Amino acid sequence: MKTFWCTVLRLGALLSTLMLNSAWAAAPSAILLTADRVWTGDGQIHRGWGVLISQGKIAAVGPIAQLSPPADTEQIALPGKTLLPGLIDLHSHVLLHPYNETSWDDQVMKEAVEYRTILATRHAADTLQAGFTSLRDLGSEGALYADVAIRKAIDAGVIPGPRLSVATLALVASHTYGPAARNFRPDMDVPHGAQEVSGVDAAVKAVREQSSHGADWIKLYADYRTGPDGSSRATFSQEELNAIVRTAHDSGRRVAAHAGTDEGMRRSVLAGVDTIEHGYGGTAATFRLMAERKVVYVPTLTASEAVSEYFQQHVRGTAPTPSMQAAASAFKLARQLGVIIGCGSDVGVFKHGTNVRELAWMVKLGMRPNEALLSATSVAAEVLGKGNELGQIKAGWLADLIAVEGDPSVNIGALEQVALVMKGGVLYRRPALK
Ligand SMILES: [Zn+2]
Repeated sequence: MKTFWCTVLRLGALLSTLMLNSAWAAAPSAILLTADRVWTGDGQIHRGWGVLISQGKIAAVGPIAQLSPPADTEQIALPGKTLLPGLIDLHSHVLLHPYNETSWDDQVMKEAVEYRTILATRHAADTLQAGFTSLRDLGSEGALYADVAIRKAIDAGVIPGPRLSVATLALVASHTYGPAARNFRPDMDVPHGAQEVSGVDAAVKAVREQSSHGADWIKLYADYRTGPDGSSRATFSQEELNAIVRTAHDSGRRVAAHAGTDEGMRRSVLAGVDTIEHGYGGTAATFRLMAERKVVYVPTLTASEAVSEYFQQHVRGTAPTPSMQAAASAFKLARQLGVIIGCGSDVGVFKHGTNVRELAWMVKLGMRPNEALLSATSVAAEVLGKGNELGQIKAGWLADLIAVEGDPSVNIGALEQVALVMKGGVLYRRPALK
């Protein structure tokens, strides 16, 4: 009897091994994507091309007849669609949600970091579904190091989301950032939206601290609404900025500067930052300096529109408010003067998963759709320091790809109709089987 049961058990074990093996055997070793058009990131549309993906990377791209897929390759045909590299948003806040739902002050002061982190997992999933496969997340806005944990969960495959480059707490000059002390009893201590530092030593120490906790980027606020009348003024001194940038660069990290005033921008550029965020008040002289030094401009045009909607009764599609006009003029001036422009929206201020609004704005203000696509793919990948693995459909590059309905190099609105999303060779969205 004992022998009988042993045999049954052995047979069972053998059967499950066989089933496991057959499950492995059934998984294709490669995926071949074919679409009406392939936009590889070199600015051209290729017809009759396909992309072969294997082991998380792009194995080959070219005319379909010239590709040699293995026998068990899964083929996904995408008629009517365009394949392009996964999109990149260079300015996001996955730990924020729109201010017309909850004010920024209330998010920072009243929402638990745990709650904000749970919301952020939803935001990350929505972003990926919308075709954005990488984000540079510029500050947790009071949610401590939660961005590092979210990045870890995404990388480990625990939750779906884009590749994240995170800035953690961000650096602000002491007593310059929100929630603003003037709105509270003077003896009240409210949570801070970023790490407050004054002086070169404290600034250097904070850069090292954030780096050690997992920051990929250092984000600083070069100006803020600290003037007696609430106007924006430069906050950090030149010496403080120089020290922050030097320390970050020494550690192999790049620096993003929030700067809306010309003085904040100028000081940041002189200090050697890598990108300027917003830049609505930039003069020709400062944009020229940026062009010369190849400092990238991230215009965040959608944030300007969203804030106008929330606080100035702006109705989308109607005449722009003065702040939107300032953003539009800065964008046009920067383009005229040859400043490199990277796509960054400040999403979080507005709804996650609608990042594509930024590309629509750039086109509305004069960019050709092709240029806008480059700013959200190969140009953005260079900004991230990942120009040799992301932002193009190229053999050997990571398989971050999307397919959209129609041709976004002619009509940028096509990006709103995402049919397929792949990150690292894994499909997160695919057309329904007919
Ligand atoms: Zn921001």
